[in-house]
Amino acid sequence: TPVVVAIDGPSGTGKSSTSKAVAARMGLRYLDTGAQYRAITWWMLNAGIDVDDAEAVAAAAGKPTIVSGTDPLAPTITVDGTDVAAPIRGRQVTGAVSAVSAVPEVRARITELQRSIAAGAAEGIVVEGRDIGTTVLPDADVKIFLTASPEVRAARRSAELAGRAGSSAPTAQAGSDVAATQAALLRRDAADSRRKTSPLAKAADATEVDTSELTLEQVIECVVTLIEE
Ligand code: C5P
Repeated sequence: TPVVVAIDGPSGTGKSSTSKAVAARMGLRYLDTGAQYRAITWWMLNAGIDVDDAEAVAAAAGKPTIVSGTDPLAPTITVDGTDVAAPIRGRQVTGAVSAVSAVPEVRARITELQRSIAAGAAEGIVVEGRDIGTTVLPDADVKIFLTASPEVRAARRSAELAGRAGSSAPTAQAGSDVAATQAALLRRDAADSRRKTSPLAKAADATEVDTSELTLEQVIECVVTLIEE
């Protein structure tokens, strides 16, 4: 039977890089559930919906059609046929996604989508997110919860943003930028952990991996070993 792997944890733990690499190495499909919440948030903002109005968000939750491509070497995401891979990483979406993803109607819709994608992956799949092991796929074969210290997470996210902006010297990042990134990241994780419906949480049967002192390659090897066991 195809193996189903749930990888959860806060941002800046190397979750996406690890999940993609593990899936590619083991011939599994890959689903980035954060991208789906970002995509529905992008659609809400684009439609002029006030993301802090939970009733308005709930009423619109069923409208956009979100499609995820699950090739780990080239994952894709579209909303009503529009490629949103770039805009969903922007500051606006990142600032609004916690509010949108806290709305139960949004979670119900996206969770259903995630379950159908996982059920359709005949080769097996790595699904990464915040509530995969606890809520979306409680029967997953392997559950992993990645953590890292707040300092390490902020530094990784800052380097990632600098790299994405085309900076050739992410190490030249000003200390205040790292501090601002850390504050925003901690606020988002706190909001994700506090929400009533399926908060960011480690499943009781998940294996926790602290990535603070590990290289990406070491984390990948650790996860592959856990899957092969
Ligand atoms: O992983 P990423 O940072 O792209 O996730 C963006 C946001 O989507 C998270 O901060 C969280 O609010 C939401 N999310 C969620 N449940 C998931 C995955 C992401 O609520 N399974």
